[in-house]
Amino acid sequence: MNINVKLPDGNSVELPQNSTPYDVAASIGAGLAKAAIGARVNGTLVDVTSPITSDCDISIITAPRQDKKGNSKFRDTAHQDDALYLLRHSTAHVMAEAIANLWPDTELAYGPPLETGFYYDIKLDTPISSDDFAKIEAEMAKIIASNRPFKRYDLPIAEGMDKLKAENNKYKIDNAERAIEGGAQSLSWYVTGDPSLDTACATDDSANTSEGYWEDLCQGPHVPNTSLIGASKVMSIASSNWHGDVNSDRFQRVYGTAFFSEKDLETYLGKLEEAKARDHRVIGQKLGLFAIDDKVGQGLVLWKPKGGIIRDELQKFIGEHLTKQGYFQVFTPHIGKLDLYRTSGHFPYYQDSQFPPIISREQIKSLADEGCSCSQLANMLEDGDVDGYMLKPMNCPHHIQIYASEKRSYRDLPIRLAEFGTVYRWEQSGELNGMTRVRGFTQDDAHLFVMPEQLDEEVQGCLDLVKVIFETLGLKDFRVRVSLRDPDGTKYVGNPEDWDRAESACIKAAESLGVPFSMEPGEAAFYGPKIDFVVKDVIGREWQLGTVQVDYQLPQRFELSYVGSDNAEHTPIMIHRAPFGSMERFVGVLIEHFNGSFPLWLNPEQVRVLPISDKFVDYAEEVKDKLFAEGVRVTIDKGNDRLNGKIKVAQEDRVCYMLVVGRKDKEAGTVSVRHRSEGDLGAVPTDEFVANIVEEIKTKALGPLVKASN
Ligand SMILES: [Zn+2]
Ligand SMILES: [Zn+2]
Repeated sequence: MNINVKLPDGNSVELPQNSTPYDVAASIGAGLAKAAIGARVNGTLVDVTSPITSDCDISIITAPRQDKKGNSKFRDTAHQDDALYLLRHSTAHVMAEAIANLWPDTELAYGPPLETGFYYDIKLDTPISSDDFAKIEAEMAKIIASNRPFKRYDLPIAEGMDKLKAENNKYKIDNAERAIEGGAQSLSWYVTGDPSLDTACATDDSANTSEGYWEDLCQGPHVPNTSLIGASKVMSIASSNWHGDVNSDRFQRVYGTAFFSEKDLETYLGKLEEAKARDHRVIGQKLGLFAIDDKVGQGLVLWKPKGGIIRDELQKFIGEHLTKQGYFQVFTPHIGKLDLYRTSGHFPYYQDSQFPPIISREQIKSLADEGCSCSQLANMLEDGDVDGYMLKPMNCPHHIQIYASEKRSYRDLPIRLAEFGTVYRWEQSGELNGMTRVRGFTQDDAHLFVMPEQLDEEVQGCLDLVKVIFETLGLKDFRVRVSLRDPDGTKYVGNPEDWDRAESACIKAAESLGVPFSMEPGEAAFYGPKIDFVVKDVIGREWQLGTVQVDYQLPQRFELSYVGSDNAEHTPIMIHRAPFGSMERFVGVLIEHFNGSFPLWLNPEQVRVLPISDKFVDYAEEVKDKLFAEGVRVTIDKGNDRLNGKIKVAQEDRVCYMLVVGRKDKEAGTVSVRHRSEGDLGAVPTDEFVANIVEEIKTKALGPLVKASN
């Protein structure tokens, strides 16, 4: 029997049943077959040797080509993600084998690929340290150089479990049980073996001891052989527990990474160094932007004056655009009654991620008098027998009550309510990270209440705002993800026509951005589709910022309505949007993006005047006053340091412009301009400098507008 295999270009090939992706590639050309390292068959990533049993869509994944410098060239990010996944999954096996060769007592637990590499959890009494990394890498190099194929074999579940029990590794048994629970029809092993020793499939527990033959329980897929691993490195070691459970067995977790070429690895390590230097926690501390103080609480950001300037400028900038787009700013309190969150569904369902409720003194006293225990109180709170307040986890219910505070007609809609609203979430302490994972944060939040026919335009408006702001900040490398409903799902509220409209509004709006975007069926919340923004940083780490979410549910739960042109009551649709997520997260990402050197309009200190001696402080004051009158953030360094010392400090403080003033400047009415990245720009008439810098601030330019004089 033949099967029909459809290729990405729309062409098909007919091949015998149980042909492999390798056969498909070979039917197209020898070059493609040679380069094939895996495939996506109906969307699932598989080995190049995986038999194809029925008609399917296929896309062959090839090893990347390398340019002259040795940089791997991928077709697109999907190709890159797939190829690196296969490679890293495979390298995890090689590292595990190397470690098992070096420490024969090693018990292997679990070793998945990660976005930037892979890890393997191992049980071993001897502690591995970074001093051992070179030894592990050398052992890995031997395995890689021996050009061993990865081969899969499957055993029926009963037989496979017998084999695992005979080998007596409880973690692998657990892995297998989990796979079976997840619906696995058989158990599979991958042999990294010398083909001449490929007698595999035996339930022989001596298998892993013979040189040049090694196997691991694994669902795959992998690259065809070890020689594809162009470069690999053991990165770090940490401790971990079985499936994150602190009460279970403890492991050593060895992290590694792998690439197709040495050059790729070198580039990655360079970026990693750069990222370390750009860490917003380090720069934020050095530049005095923010602090986190244990006396206040972990995860609660204190914005210091300089950080406050950046936030204020951003909020003003976003606020101006909101006004232009017809939003109104509202202000709401930081707490609300528990009942409000019962209606919205935030309580009690998400209480693990919330600060506990606040209850009045009288109520606590009377409950205590009645002998109420803590667990009884918790139940009473859940059931609504006791009311209290909560730090708000979301701004939506407050904004909804603003909408509900007046009778609304179709003539009023859309209503767009915006607030830089602070919300509180209980993040686990291990999850906290500087400004990017916190317990209290201010969202650039807004809620739009719209009629169905307004949805397209309003979703589009949300995205236009994002585009303007990302462009102004030079965040060019971003993508959007559109989360859609699962076509077969039944959990969704709202009728299918509404969903069609909302999904098409999201897709159309995303397309209009002209940046890469993906559609992800099944990823939508049950109450509506959404759009997410993901920004890439210097080392290619992706930061999820904010979302635009269409919501059919909350207006129903709160029984919101408007009177339509037909004089009947209708339910509006809500759009939640916080495109930058939170001011904390956004500024944290911007600190790393700009490496602390913010563009002039955002930079806390824009100009510092550096008199070369006491004699010129008066003139420096004169220059400062001129700038100050134009709203420029300017200071004078009146210290006794020599000029070079003053310049060095100003550079470290990332001041945009340093104005050196001495005798010549005073006589000519000039300033000697130095820019933090352009260096010395020479003497410029003071008024000209003022005019240029005002222009640079006003236009929010990313680079300096003040040019060297001649
Ligand atoms: Zn594997
Ligand atoms: Zn909301």
